[in-house]
Amino acid sequence: MSLRVLVVEDDRQIRALLQSSLGVEGFEVQTAVSVSEAAAMLQHSLPDIVVLDLGLPDGDGIDLVKQIRRQHSLPILVVSARHQESEKVKLLDAGADDYLTKPFSVVELLARIRVSLRHRGTALAPATTLHEFEDLRVDLETRLVTVKGAPIHLTPTEFKLLARLARSAGKVVTHRQLLVDVWGPEFTGYSHYLRLYMGQLRAKIEADPAEPCHLLTETGVGYRLAAG
Ligand code: CA
Repeated sequence: MSLRVLVVEDDRQIRALLQSSLGVEGFEVQTAVSVSEAAAMLQHSLPDIVVLDLGLPDGDGIDLVKQIRRQHSLPILVVSARHQESEKVKLLDAGADDYLTKPFSVVELLARIRVSLRHRGTALAPATTLHEFEDLRVDLETRLVTVKGAPIHLTPTEFKLLARLARSAGKVVTHRQLLVDVWGPEFTGYSHYLRLYMGQLRAKIEADPAEPCHLLTETGVGYRLAAG
């Protein structure tokens, strides 16, 4: 069965280029020209991956990223003319899987699509936007984290790590999966990053970081965010 791609792009030429080149590669391609059209299509059926432009006639693609992430874990690849690092960070934080700057080569796009699909691994639990357990509350939508009602300031990476665990709350997430989802597929060997950031998160969230009751270690496997 061929994989389905939803291309959201208002530029007719780029849309046609993507449609034909992805079609040649064996993808089943659907297209949408606006945020609202894409949203309506996603209600009916889910593609295997979304390729998304940012400047759309009825809104910004980032809103669609957020909208999709509230319910679905499918990979989202953004293709945009915007270059700023801050813009990319915003998108990735919102849940996009990867970012390609226009003009892009079709070969590069196909490579990124394959990577996104391959590294997706098991699906993240959908639709979890709020994690509450004992004194900890993690709101993935507003990005507000509180302990005993008091807001906790987290760095973007700390939040991403906590959010990834919150999306799979109660389940163990492997070291590799965390490194891939939080830092990227090229970081699978950087387990010291994970230890460092887990230490920082525990210091901010746990009453006693040495005896964590939220961020649990699954020795040799990964970490688990405790759930009710
Ligand atoms: Ca556009």
